[in-house]
Order: sequence, then structure tokens, then C-alpha cells
Amino acid sequence: MKVDLLVTHAGELLTLDRLAPRRGAAMSDLGIIRDGAVAIQDGRIVAVGPTDLVANQCRAPEEIDAGGRVVMPAFVDAHSHVLYAGNRIDEFEQWLKGASDQEIAAAGGGVMSTVRATREASDDAILTQSRARLARMLAHGTTTVEVKTGYGLDPEAELRLLGLLQMLGQGLPVHLVPTFLAGRSVPAEYAERLEAYADLVVEEMLPRATEQAEYCDVVCDEGGFTLAQTERILRKADELGLGLKVHADESVALGATGLAAELGAASADHLVITPEEERARLAASAVAAVLLPAASFGLASHHSAPGRTWIDSGAIVALGTDCNPETAPSESMPFTIALACRILGLTVAEAIVAATLNAAYAVGRATVVGSLSPGKSADLLILDADDHRELAYRFGTNPVRAVMVEGRVCP
Ligand code: ZN
Repeated sequence: MKVDLLVTHAGELLTLDRLAPRRGAAMSDLGIIRDGAVAIQDGRIVAVGPTDLVANQCRAPEEIDAGGRVVMPAFVDAHSHVLYAGNRIDEFEQWLKGASDQEIAAAGGGVMSTVRATREASDDAILTQSRARLARMLAHGTTTVEVKTGYGLDPEAELRLLGLLQMLGQGLPVHLVPTFLAGRSVPAEYAERLEAYADLVVEEMLPRATEQAEYCDVVCDEGGFTLAQTERILRKADELGLGLKVHADESVALGATGLAAELGAASADHLVITPEEERARLAASAVAAVLLPAASFGLASHHSAPGRTWIDSGAIVALGTDCNPETAPSESMPFTIALACRILGLTVAEAIVAATLNAAYAVGRATVVGSLSPGKSADLLILDADDHRELAYRFGTNPVRAVMVEGRVCP
């Protein structure tokens, strides 16, 4: 068979070969092939196996010798808020010096400062700043990213962000999954009228979001919507054909995880303080549990999701950076993996599955990326390591040596 490209001599080829997500003990199986190879044709994987065998079956004009390094599927970031302008460095410093959230908000900081900066920025400024974040994600091995709106709040500003989201990926070899996010905060004019704001989302914003978004996500937490409002918004989104996601149980447990299970959402995210009964319901469902350890780390919080328990419960556990200007200004999935192992209690293999195949499932891309399976997009990484466990063992430096998207090595 003639192919375009062979990647050969991977010391460990992590195939994760599967279209469906993994749970429980299956999350420990990375499908490792020693001295493995991948054959690529028209941007897709056509064969995977031992180098001897693949090189025998496939002839290619080009070959990349991985030199005994780890070759694995590229990362999928299942949860990000990279579309915004500005940063929160000043309030970060105030926080380090001991200022409370209330003091920071009173000084003009908090979510509303990002909303203001984003509303005031030009389209070009938002795109340039957000693309720089995506470029860092790509450099750290992420080739598929879920990106949420949310820093617009009012209908016009949110629709503008949805429009920018369509342009965001231009010029970058990254696959984006666009999500309309409701309830990141509440506009000042609706501060005492949360129900009226939910009406606005349901009646005005959602119908206009359907063309440009694939998912609808709702923040059901302190500073966001109540459970009843979340349900109303998600049911409307479902009716309009959007996939469903929910920010659940990060600081208060309002019942959003149970709701996600009931509605058959794509994922429930954060899940730091989920009550046991709801955890069992989610674990028994097809809804992914997206855990975001960088948000806990960013807050220097002692509360993080009980990842070990989530996996032992049988949930489809996935990971995301939660990249956002407040709690997690990090674009790195390798860092997220290092944290997942240390503070959520995952093993390295489980964290890798959660950052690839299961994350792909959480954003509706499990048949396209997330494993080295024939037919999937040739999105893969060559690590600067010969043992996959180095991914989590090392932290603070980039373990990714080369990133390939649809069979092309990124410059
Ligand atoms: Zn989030």
C-alpha cells in the first residue's frame, strides 16, 4: 500500500485504539505497541502496528523516525474559556497580597473586569490575544479545543463573541468546538432580576446562538443560574438541537450533575463537591465527567474534584485546562495531567486517556480524534521522552517535541 507518510520507531506507541470512551479499569489500558509505527494517507491514519509490520505493508515517500520516543494521540482540551481580552494580573497581585474577592470586586476586578475589557476591545485585539493562547495550546500538544463564549453577557456582546469564535481558528491548525456559555456572570442591570436574565437567554440569545454554536453550557453555581433556570435554559438548548454542558458543583452543589444525567448532556464539568447520589447517577450514564484541576491549583484551593472516586465509580472521566483569565491562565494539557495525577489521584495512564479519548468524547469528537485508530485524523505527538509516565512525572517544562495535525508537522 502506498501512503503519504510513515512515523516509525516509536519506543512506545500509545494507540488507545477505540472509538468509544473508556471507564474504570479500561482507563489503565493505553494499547501500547513497542517500536510502533503509524501510516498516514490524506491526513488520516490508515495503519498502526509494529514498525516491522507497518513498514513492510506501506511504502511512503516520507518517513519520520521517532527515535525510540513516545508517540501518542494529540491532546483534546475539553473545557476552555480562551476567547477574551485583557488579563487579570493586577488583581492576581492584590490576591497574593491578601485582598478578598469582595475587595477585588470593589476595586473593579473580578469577572466583570474581563467582561468590560472584552466588550471594549476591537475584534482584532480579541482575536490576536486569543490566537496567542491557542498557539500556546498547540505548542503543548493540544489540537482540538472546546472554546466557550461567556464574557459578553448581553445578547449583542455574546453574539459578537460567537462570530469571533468562527474566525478564531483561521490560520491555526487547531480544531475548535464552539460553545455558547450562559451565566458566567450576571449583567449589572439584571443583578436583582436573575429570572428575567434567564428569560433573555432562553428567548433571545439561544435561538440566535444555534447557527454558530455546537453546545450550550450553563454555569449553575454561585454567581450563575439556579438549578431551575439551568434546567429551563438547557431544555430550550436541547429543543434547538444544541449539545448540553453544565458547570456543576464547583463552589456550591445545586443539583446540576443530576440534571446533566437526566437530560443526557454531553458533559458535566468541575464536579468538586458533587453529592454521592448524583455522582452515582452520572457515573452510570453516558455523560462525561470533565475535571479541571488547574482551576483548583489556580485558586490555591484545598478543594479539588475527587478524581480517584470518579474513576472508581465508573464515570467517563475527561480533563480540560479550564483556560481562563481568573482561576486557570494555563494553556497546557501536560501541566493539567501532572496536576490530575497529584491532586485528583489519577494514574498516569488514566490521565492520558482522560486528556485524549475521553476528552474527545466529551466534545463530540470521539470518532475523529483522541486515539491512533485507522480512519481518525492523524493528530499525534512525539514526546521528548521514551516513557509515557514522564508526561506526568515532569512538570513545568513542555514535554512535547513535535505536534502533527492531519498528518502535517506544525512548524
Ligand atoms: Zn469553565
